[in-house]
Amino acid sequence: MSVPEIRPASCRQILKDVFGYSQFRPGQEDAMNALMGGRNVLAVMPTGSGKSLCFQVPALALGSLAIVVSPLVALMQDQVTALQLAGVAADTINSSRPYDDNVAVWRRAAAGQLRLLYLSPERLMTAAMLKALGKLSLSLIAVDEAHCISQWGPAFRPEYAALAGLSEAFPRVPIIALTATADESTRADIRANLFGGEVDEIVLGFDRPNIRLTVAPKQGWKQQLLDFVKAHPRQSGIVYCLSRKRTEEAAALLVEAGVRALAYHAGMSDEIREANQNAFMSEPYVVMAATIAFGMGIDKADVRYVFHADLPASLEAYYQEIGRAGRDGKPAEAHMLYGRGDIRMRQMFIDQEETSDEHKRRQHQRLSALIGYCEASSCRRKALLAYFGEQGEECGNCDACLDPATLADATGEAWMVLDLIERTGERYGAAHIIDILRGAETEKIAACGHDRLDGYGSGRSHKKEEWRSLIHQLVAGGLLIHDVAGYGGLSLSPEGELLLGGKRRFMARQHRPTRKERRAAE
Ligand code: ADP
Ligand code: ZN
Repeated sequence: MSVPEIRPASCRQILKDVFGYSQFRPGQEDAMNALMGGRNVLAVMPTGSGKSLCFQVPALALGSLAIVVSPLVALMQDQVTALQLAGVAADTINSSRPYDDNVAVWRRAAAGQLRLLYLSPERLMTAAMLKALGKLSLSLIAVDEAHCISQWGPAFRPEYAALAGLSEAFPRVPIIALTATADESTRADIRANLFGGEVDEIVLGFDRPNIRLTVAPKQGWKQQLLDFVKAHPRQSGIVYCLSRKRTEEAAALLVEAGVRALAYHAGMSDEIREANQNAFMSEPYVVMAATIAFGMGIDKADVRYVFHADLPASLEAYYQEIGRAGRDGKPAEAHMLYGRGDIRMRQMFIDQEETSDEHKRRQHQRLSALIGYCEASSCRRKALLAYFGEQGEECGNCDACLDPATLADATGEAWMVLDLIERTGERYGAAHIIDILRGAETEKIAACGHDRLDGYGSGRSHKKEEWRSLIHQLVAGGLLIHDVAGYGGLSLSPEGELLLGGKRRFMARQHRPTRKERRAAE
């Protein structure tokens, strides 16, 4: 028994009849039109923007069978349940179901009774599955969470690498790749791996203006966490920690302070993890202290804050993690603690990874972009959006915009840095430049004769950390360019030239001494 096909319905009609919506959201119509026209699509759209409908509606409009690839069984199950409730013939074949169920689903797919079939990448890319699907007529293939294909990205999944064979296996079937976070290099990876060329790209606004962005120097995370959570009573929040141990410490600390807090990490038993997740989803005002194992597919509308007790892996990861706050559009806050020790830890992680130098270089670049964000002396949102290639105005909803009083004129110091960088040929990294400023006696300085430079030792009155912070701010502010050729060298941008020529000034965030520095100074 196959579903009678009268004539292809329009996407707008299906949007209304099946899903009950009268209007497309931004980006949806373009994505649907491309698929309907047989073209490939790369859709980079924020969480909650309605990515799923971009392929679900055309799948229904085109008839026949659409394949949807998704990395997690839970994500597939959620979408399938929602579709079935809307009366759509959708189902999934996956490892968590009994064999007989999977066989029954496959029979329905083969008989033309299904419109959408959800599969994991490893199941789809088996020779047997590809052969069987090759005999059916497919409407489209959707690859959800497509950033998982990028080897360099924070969420690489080896199973996704096999999807590179998709376009060859189904040359006439349009493919849509969807993701909520992809910087330009991740997009390039998706284009190269999944499409090998032609693809319509739809990149939608990354801004989540209701999320307030704040960063504080890490000075005793436990007290800082307690203060923050107490200042946000009766709210659901997520506290991201780097280690499993720390999630438990954080949860215990909060519980002791009378807060309903739970931990979540990959080292717990499935039952406890699931129970904690359910409590977070269904009870009001639960704080979840979690590693990044918690999050993908978490769709809770009223998470009021995301607190980073430790530095995330990259700005991409950060954006994805804070995106879990404020999905209802109401005010929410993303607060991050930022400590020197965290940076060293992240640097060590990268150096210890058993990967190519190219991979390490890209990871280090990503880390410096994140540090630049933490040190930004002007609007953080602008810095964040710029990282994703988007222009923004001063947002008025980040700590830099809200508290410009902590800025001080640092034009003189900035001039010293830029001047030295220019006179040494714009090829050295921050460490060496700081050594020159502070009059250090290193082998490199001796070998380059940089101790004979005018300006050698001229910056002794400022600490290493202060210079480092200023240089990060100059990078974040677009006066210095970091690492174009890949060796970590700093060079001047046109804005930097302006300052050097006395045509602009630079306001910097004051370096706040850490406890250790304060103790050393006493
Ligand atoms: P994403 O995958 O981008 O995070 P979803 O596809 O889960 O987002 O959609 C988020 C919510 O928005 C869902 O509840 C969905 O039903 C709703 N939605 C999607 N498109 C529309 C639309 N055109 N009009 C109204 N609501 C929509
Ligand atoms: Zn701002």
